[in-house]
Amino acid sequence: MLPVVWLGLVLTQTVTNQVDAAALREGESQAKSLASAAVEPYLDGRQLSDGLSEAQLASMSRATWHLIAQGSAMVLRVRDLNGQIVFDAADPYGEHAASGPEEEVQEAATVGMVSLLTTVGADEVDGMRTDGAQAIEVYVAIHPIEEPGKVVGVLEVYIPYGQIAAERQSSLNQLRLSIAFGLGALWIVLVLIVTSIARRTRQQSRHSEFMALHDSLTGLPGRSLFRDRIVAALGAAGRMGNDVAVAVLDLDRFKDVNESLGHRNGDEFLRIVAQRLKATLRPGDTVARLGGDEFGLVLPGTVSDSVEEILGRVLTALGAEAELGGVAISAEASIGYAMWPSDADEPDDLLRRADLALDVAKVARGGIVRYHPMGGEFDPQRLGLISELRRAIGGGELVLHYQPKIDVPTGNVTAFEALVRWNHPVRGLMPPCDFIPIAESTGLIGPLTQWVVDAALAQLAEWSESRPELSMAVNISARNLRDDLPGWILGRLAAHHINASRLVLEITETSIAADPIRATVLLEELSAAGVKVSLDDFGQGYTSLGSLGHLPVSELKIDRGFVFAMENSHEDRAIVASVIELGHQLGLTVVAEGVETEEVRATLRAMGCDTMQGYLFSPAVPASHALALIEGVHSRV
Ligand code: C2E
Ligand code: CA
Ligand code: CA
Repeated sequence: MLPVVWLGLVLTQTVTNQVDAAALREGESQAKSLASAAVEPYLDGRQLSDGLSEAQLASMSRATWHLIAQGSAMVLRVRDLNGQIVFDAADPYGEHAASGPEEEVQEAATVGMVSLLTTVGADEVDGMRTDGAQAIEVYVAIHPIEEPGKVVGVLEVYIPYGQIAAERQSSLNQLRLSIAFGLGALWIVLVLIVTSIARRTRQQSRHSEFMALHDSLTGLPGRSLFRDRIVAALGAAGRMGNDVAVAVLDLDRFKDVNESLGHRNGDEFLRIVAQRLKATLRPGDTVARLGGDEFGLVLPGTVSDSVEEILGRVLTALGAEAELGGVAISAEASIGYAMWPSDADEPDDLLRRADLALDVAKVARGGIVRYHPMGGEFDPQRLGLISELRRAIGGGELVLHYQPKIDVPTGNVTAFEALVRWNHPVRGLMPPCDFIPIAESTGLIGPLTQWVVDAALAQLAEWSESRPELSMAVNISARNLRDDLPGWILGRLAAHHINASRLVLEITETSIAADPIRATVLLEELSAAGVKVSLDDFGQGYTSLGSLGHLPVSELKIDRGFVFAMENSHEDRAIVASVIELGHQLGLTVVAEGVETEEVRATLRAMGCDTMQGYLFSPAVPASHALALIEGVHSRV
């Protein structure tokens, strides 16, 4: 606004000056014509200071009186070079005062012409009636006609300016109005331009802020916004008393996709992954791209059981085939996660621990891994073991040993329990407690169990020729209780031509307690198909006795801790006795494991225990020794 007002003032001033200058020039040219028409023809070459002759006075008076009378000149005087008036058109024959405007006269004599705008006041011009009118005051040097180079005096003329001034004022006003309008319009245009630029700049800065916080390829939040979202989720969850899961997801073979299908398809692939992640999760969850083929998820308000389920759905969604560059591909991913507040308190710790869990998941190629503090943090040795175990499962390093289950009334071996060992190339034969927990925490338990079931059934099929009634028991972990378990088990039974009733799945009480509804559904499906289910380590998990009747199990396996304790504790003997009693009332077979002494065997037998298992009869042995056991064990029961 200020520059525009300033410009307006300058323009107005300039125009005013120009109008004034034009008026002065007009006045000057009129004065010049007056001089050459009414004064100069009557000069004779003498200096005017010598005075004018009567004839000269008369001629000039004739030539000028009407100018005064008509008002085309307010004052018309001829002065000599000293400024002394020698002729005054208003009073041609009168005496003239000696004083005069010597400065202007001198200047006009030298430069030829002087003009200025003036207001003629009553007292300025020797008592004449001039009522303060505006005038152009001009001084012109005058020359005799015969001697144009000689200045003999100066003509002083006041040309009335009132008329011109009025015109000047009205045109100036018009001009000022135009300037005001023009500048006003200019100002409006400038304001419009400036506001639109400002708006665009604001949009641009919002956009670049978005771009700084988001990944340009997928439009997902980037790493720093991801961290903010974690902080926000923890704050909200703290107020609501909820848990928060922070997960990090890494695509398993993204490099291959990029290399074989090109970067453009690689980018498209990432966009598909991003889109599927968003579609699978709930509106309040966050999906972020942390860089490369790594994504971050924040799942507020979840409990750890449902986290596994949600993340499982994520993997399933990613696994759906997509067409890319004419090739059908699906995404496989590893996910590591950590729970707030149980795994870490601080956002950064939470993220770091989810990252550690991801490392484990990647090594295991096992899907979903929750952070687990093994002696503080994941140690490299453990990571090494995970990758070795993955190779061992497919690479023939696992072996099964078999421990007989003996029928108490007959003393016959009715079943074997398959127990896995790892024949490690460096560490030697490793017991399951050294690697089953790792397999369970990394998802490797899936392929491991599949290998065990398949190998055990293959062994059972081999023994079937001589022992067609023999059963095989395998141990199933909590994480094996997935929707695809029944279908897969029944498929393997069919492949090995084994009747479903010869397979026993040993599942611990605690595995079922983790997700009882889901476990019940799966076990019902299996037992409907004829597969037997045994409740392993019974007594450790405090299964409510009421719910026991609803579980689709056919066998109770009393935890070996109680069996050991029976020897010395009257209470434990009472517990075992009542478990046997309870099992029988529910129509279940009761098995005692960990039978090591003759005394315990006798007590259990007296209590009516159906089946026994333990070192008293045999430890788990390689397949090559197992059949031979059948005869040997028989005699001891
Ligand atoms: P479990 O299912 O309770 O298996 C019984 C364990 O007790 C076996 O140890 C067996 O060797 C041992 N045992 C048998 N009789 C006696 C006895 O009289 N005295 C004593 N002190 N111990 C006895 P193992 O083979 O080391 O297996 C340990 C655990 O590892 C198993 O406990 C089971 O939970 C798990 N496991 C073993 N094989 C597998 C498998 O293939 N899959 C899964 N998921 N878990 C397995
Ligand atoms: Ca078992
Ligand atoms: Ca057991």
